[in-house]
Amino acid sequence: MGEASVLDRLPGAIAKAEKLPSPPTVALEVLRVSNDENATIDDLAAILSRDPALSAKILKLANSSMFRRGDAVSSLDAATMRLGLKTVKLMALSFSLTDELPRKSDRGFDYIDYWRRSLTMAVAGRALARLVRNPHGDEAFLCGLLGRLGQIVMAECIPDEYGALIQQAEGELPPASLEAEQLGYDSHEVGAALLDSWQLPPLIVQTVRGWGDPEHVSDDAEEPVGMLARIMALANATATVLCRPQQCGSALKTLYALGTEYCGVSEDEIDAFVVSLEQDVSEMASMLNMDVDGESYQGILDRARMEMVQISLGAALDLEQTTSRAEELERKNQELESKATTDKLTGIPNRAQFDETLERVVAARISGPSENALGLLVVDVDHFKKFNDTHGHQTGDEVLKLVARCLSEATRDTDLAARYGGEEFVVVLGNTTLEILETVAERIRKRVAETALSRDGEPDLSVTASVGGACVERVASAEDGEALLALADACLYEAKEAGRNRFVCRRVESTADASA
Ligand code: GH3
Ligand code: MG
Ligand code: MG
Repeated sequence: MGEASVLDRLPGAIAKAEKLPSPPTVALEVLRVSNDENATIDDLAAILSRDPALSAKILKLANSSMFRRGDAVSSLDAATMRLGLKTVKLMALSFSLTDELPRKSDRGFDYIDYWRRSLTMAVAGRALARLVRNPHGDEAFLCGLLGRLGQIVMAECIPDEYGALIQQAEGELPPASLEAEQLGYDSHEVGAALLDSWQLPPLIVQTVRGWGDPEHVSDDAEEPVGMLARIMALANATATVLCRPQQCGSALKTLYALGTEYCGVSEDEIDAFVVSLEQDVSEMASMLNMDVDGESYQGILDRARMEMVQISLGAALDLEQTTSRAEELERKNQELESKATTDKLTGIPNRAQFDETLERVVAARISGPSENALGLLVVDVDHFKKFNDTHGHQTGDEVLKLVARCLSEATRDTDLAARYGGEEFVVVLGNTTLEILETVAERIRKRVAETALSRDGEPDLSVTASVGGACVERVASAEDGEALLALADACLYEAKEAGRNRFVCRRVESTADASA
């Protein structure tokens, strides 16, 4: 094969890879048996039995949540029987090779993060292969563990050049495109070349070379590299969701998109899959003496979903702006300027701004998926007519200002609170649930009821307000925006009927739900 030539092209330090270990004896023997068609599981067990640490790991593996079926096994023979020849071979390789690779550096390369990410990718790769009924789960595990080997090679062998790349990537491991641009080769090539020189199976070598760009990897009859590379690209996105808090939203978006495109798995399946990895990752980490403690996977997933919603909202806005022609933008801007967006009396956004915001948020949700609901509250001052009649219009106006202040204080900056008209106010909550909506509705009600209007020389006045709320989980068309307003209004009416100074909130049955 031509892999060695890639190593030749690299700087002397890498070509010799003198800083890197050669595979440990036991790995070499496992490889030899792997490449021998006549080898049996007994031959393999014989090799493992000469390495107590590795035997212990294989035993643990057979009893781990990933493989455990029925009773615990207590002998290496029983363990190898349970796992099967291929799994034992590839897992023994995974364990012995990772044991031999560096775990810490005096040059600042973050090995803890590196191994956490690689292990997550390995477990995710194996679980994904299972999910899509691909037979190469064990290969996927090994590819995950060793998929970034080239980055270690470069960090250890050309620390100055690679350190500069890490700096350019703002402390992250540089993307392959940046490596190729600055060095003329990338870490995928380097890792694959090294694995090839260790005589790992071609499927592993080619997948490690190709997973960063699976579109350009094709399967051949013997080596289904393309599919495995796609699985590893998904596993990598999974590891990014779980190990990169700042990128979890965009990574989840990528993961959903790749899941559909490559494997035909739904977002719900991906969600369940991500959460299911936690136990396996933690068991594997303790087996391999790695440190993976952190936030629960469910917690990470919830946060990633929220961030994804924000991103798709923003992306939809960007798209809207870049696609409209300059002329139209100009006209729109003028229109926006002339049309006051602020309510004169209360200083909060007015009806026009509310209409525009609701329309925009609804449109963004039609084009981008969002897991959390879009919510709307309508707030109406109770018996305001009577209040005006008793205390005069001016005092009435003061009350409206007071209610507007309560509204702004009781909602988040990301929510839009506006005066809809008269003594009616509205709040748009872009990222909510029915429970949150109810909490906010109650907070507004309570705040208005508890805030008194103080007047010079006269007793304080207090007012109450009623709140109607609606939320919609999936927005399929502009009609869902109208349905939202109609339902919130109906809920407000109910709150009034039930005696005022209270809230009623309900969920809209969206047209998407109806057709699903
Ligand atoms: P309910 O509890 O059923 O909501 O009773 P209500 O009296 O508040 O209901 P209704 O909608 O019939 O009355 C609203 C009143 O609000 C009518 C009007 O006098 C008053 N109003 C509307 N806009 C303003 C305004 O800008 N300033 C003042 N002071 N009053 C206003
Ligand atoms: Mg009213
Ligand atoms: Mg009223």
